Amino acid sequence: MAKRTGESPRTALRKASAARLRLLRREDKADSKWLAECHSVLREAAKDRGVTEFEAWLDHSRTPLPLRPTGFDKRQQYCNRCGGRIQLNEQYDARFCGTCRRWTESKCSDPKCQFCTRRPARPVP
Ligand SMILES: [Zn+2]
Ligand SMILES: [Zn+2]
Repeated sequence: MAKRTGESPRTALRKASAARLRLLRREDKADSKWLAECHSVLREAAKDRGVTEFEAWLDHSRTPLPLRPTGFDKRQQYCNRCGGRIQLNEQYDARFCGTCRRWTESKCSDPKCQFCTRRPARPVP
């Protein structure tokens, strides 16, 4: 028997789902932060060596990247909110969950990006 806290089950449930959502948002944030960090490492390396970011990325041994967040790969494939399959929208070059109607990738930092600047708030109407 659970200890009584004087809290209604509904309040407890609401608190639990708010806590879960906070955790998921933190995961999303860590993923975007990691991607941004990787980009800046690659940009620097590319500039130093006079190559493209992609070439710097291919040269793994010379370009150590920060450690990726736990579960990153799984979150690239399955939505961490509903468990649905993540899809790629080729028009905006971004991943999204069709069930939750949300982008799972934040926009990039380039103000002139041909994809991100035109990206709508929601991936599906
Ligand atoms: Zn989802
Ligand atoms: Zn972009």
